[in-house]
Amino acid sequence: MKFGHLAGPGQVLVTDRPEPTAGPGEVIVSLAACGVCGTDLEKLRGNYRTVGVIGHEPVGRVTQLGEGVPELALGDRVFVHHHVPCYACPVCARGDYTFCARYSQTNLDPGGFAESFRVPAENVGRKAILPLAANVDWESGTLLEPAGCALTALRRLGLPEQATAFVLGLGPVGILYARLLRSLGAKWVGGSEVAPLRRRAAERGGISTTVDPREVGAVRAAIDHATDGRGVDLAVVATGHPDVLRDATTFVRRGGTVNLFGLPEAGSRLDADLQDLYLRGVRLVPSYATTEPDIAEVHRRVASGTLTISDLVSHRIPLERLEEAFRLAGQPDVAVKVAVTGPAF
Ligand SMILES: [Zn+2]
Ligand SMILES: [Zn+2]
Repeated sequence: MKFGHLAGPGQVLVTDRPEPTAGPGEVIVSLAACGVCGTDLEKLRGNYRTVGVIGHEPVGRVTQLGEGVPELALGDRVFVHHHVPCYACPVCARGDYTFCARYSQTNLDPGGFAESFRVPAENVGRKAILPLAANVDWESGTLLEPAGCALTALRRLGLPEQATAFVLGLGPVGILYARLLRSLGAKWVGGSEVAPLRRRAAERGGISTTVDPREVGAVRAAIDHATDGRGVDLAVVATGHPDVLRDATTFVRRGGTVNLFGLPEAGSRLDADLQDLYLRGVRLVPSYATTEPDIAEVHRRVASGTLTISDLVSHRIPLERLEEAFRLAGQPDVAVKVAVTGPAF
């Protein structure tokens, strides 16, 4: 079978390897589609200090069930989550599941960009395989993980009623975050993004205002207009540039929250006015990744029609052309979300 992997800095390759088989408690899934995530691009650029497995937003059909796997049948359409927490350590006991030391050590074999992949018993046992409702298409399925990340962030920081929010960086995950905010009842959601294609995609989902951050003073003006000059309850940094994080601290109201959501550039530092943060009580809350209950909640919202996301997939590229898929995903003027498709698509 074919599988895609990193072959050194800036190099993604598709090569052949034997089909995986299911051991006890394991499941084999034939790939329908897997989204290209911004973190996949950062791994390709050598900008992410973690293991080199790529592809973590896969959906497909169950083709093999190991001994003792309940509640699944061959042919089931499923989303599979690559990381699971242990649910047993002191970090998990406090609910900070994605920061469990075990969490990022778990993964799919050989990754989501493979014609078939093995889901380890650890993932299966902790409910990382989510059967898709009949009306949730493959495209929406590939967006469940990034949308789940937004929901996990919102749980972590505690979204106030009737919130006002601004999302800096409307890449696919920024747009998902903004749509989820609307779906959860936020009163006003604005966003900034350089690429017009992505601003339009955000506006389709009911985002109140989008602006081009290169226009000097445009973000500030939009926020002041929407909040009578008070600043937003929540500013979401959905891009990795450290200057954007510093700016975000000035866009929130007194006592407001900045969510450090996008992966920061490796080695970047925050150069902010600390006395201003202190005196205005600005909370800085990082959030990384997501958990099974949050992915399941996003799935329920998509299945019930309260959250629409499938239109964000702008390109479907077969696995053999993985390199092209990565190239497209890195072009904000051309693509919103790129899905890599496999044999079950
Ligand atoms: Zn992702
Ligand atoms: Zn744990």
